[in-house]
Amino acid sequence: MSTPLPLLPEPIVGGGCTDAPVLRERGQREVFCGLTGIVWLHRKMQDAFFLVVGSRTCAHLLQSAAGVMIFAEPRFATAILQDRDLAGMADCNTELDRVVAELLARRPEIGTLFLVGSCPSEVIKLDLVTAAQRLHREHFPRVRILSYSGSGIETTFTQGEDQCLKAMVPHLPQAPDGQRRLMVVGTLADVIEDQFSRLFTQLGIGPVSFFPARRAADLPPIGPGTQLLLAQPFVGETVRALQARGATLLPSPYPLGAEGTTRWLAAAAAAWDIPAEHFRKVTEPAQQRAATALQRYRATLEGKRIFFFPDSQLELPLARFLSRECGMALVEVGTPYLDRMLTEVELALLPAGTVLSEGQDVEKQLDRCEALRPDLTVCGLGLANPLEARGLRTKWSIELVFSPIQGYDQAGDLAELFVRPLDRSARLTV
Ligand code: SF4
Repeated sequence: MSTPLPLLPEPIVGGGCTDAPVLRERGQREVFCGLTGIVWLHRKMQDAFFLVVGSRTCAHLLQSAAGVMIFAEPRFATAILQDRDLAGMADCNTELDRVVAELLARRPEIGTLFLVGSCPSEVIKLDLVTAAQRLHREHFPRVRILSYSGSGIETTFTQGEDQCLKAMVPHLPQAPDGQRRLMVVGTLADVIEDQFSRLFTQLGIGPVSFFPARRAADLPPIGPGTQLLLAQPFVGETVRALQARGATLLPSPYPLGAEGTTRWLAAAAAAWDIPAEHFRKVTEPAQQRAATALQRYRATLEGKRIFFFPDSQLELPLARFLSRECGMALVEVGTPYLDRMLTEVELALLPAGTVLSEGQDVEKQLDRCEALRPDLTVCGLGLANPLEARGLRTKWSIELVFSPIQGYDQAGDLAELFVRPLDRSARLTV
């Protein structure tokens, strides 16, 4: 039997894992760097170009992680600093200026150019922020030039998006005084953005803007009347920068699963004083569709034990969805970084007693995972093969970042992503 859906969710105050102890580990990590975010950011912002100032390693990462996914001329590249550039920073800046000028001449459609920093020491020594400001002055208004770091020393995986969005915040126009508006923060696939736009319109919530927008040049207004609803749990620095411009954060879980989506929409509906009956009328058909879709997969997932290695920062919302809506048992839920401001409601919704870990000492965590032998392990690409070799079933966390998984109509697809490796394993062992 599936759990009845909370058509009108109760507000969450404490409870669950709000005050649970967190195992903090600092050791060797197995996580992508923030350059990975370019893969989904360049798809979302159609007029943006990402120029990684980095090494051949960075170029290889982007080509192997993203190259297979693009069919048109890519909207990212790597400006590789050669050995000769080590001779002096003046050379580096000249080289960067030359690459940017050539790129802009060749690609007149670029509206926003992001210079993305990386780890090599010669890049760290180059002051990319100042270089971007200089180039921006030179090329604006033809193109806006911004910079952020995707370096593996400073960022993990999804933090690249946070850095990119934060770099845009100072450029957002000021909203008219006192204007109440909703800003959804964090990249969503266009199809999901359209679904949510329709729901907000039907509910009577607006004006609504999505950040980032489909065109980087369409910068949403921000001001003291702006309410922030987070679509992704890895945009903490962006949220703090938006708060510094007067915006208010609406506490909410993330829109994963039927319950998560209902509570997410309900957070905005409460801020807009939408009557409960109207909220119910608008959301009920979609809630029912999601419940039906989930029922199909719950039979496979119920009672199965799942272990999360820290990777994308989606771990807490995914664990909440899998335990509350699919009946899975949480063995350990790891996250690269626990930002309580962004995860307060998710923590409250997790079952009390869940083992939470933050950061990583990969060897110790592998030992724990092997000793506990979960039915399914969510982890980065680098750990999947070794774990499979030890007889454990795995799910790549990167797939959960690239797939459209938010909202009512994706709740079933999200559950299915976890069913697939279990099905495959069952077929292999028959
Ligand atoms: Fe490697 Fe650093 Fe480049 Fe990322 S930014 S690919 S960690 S060198």
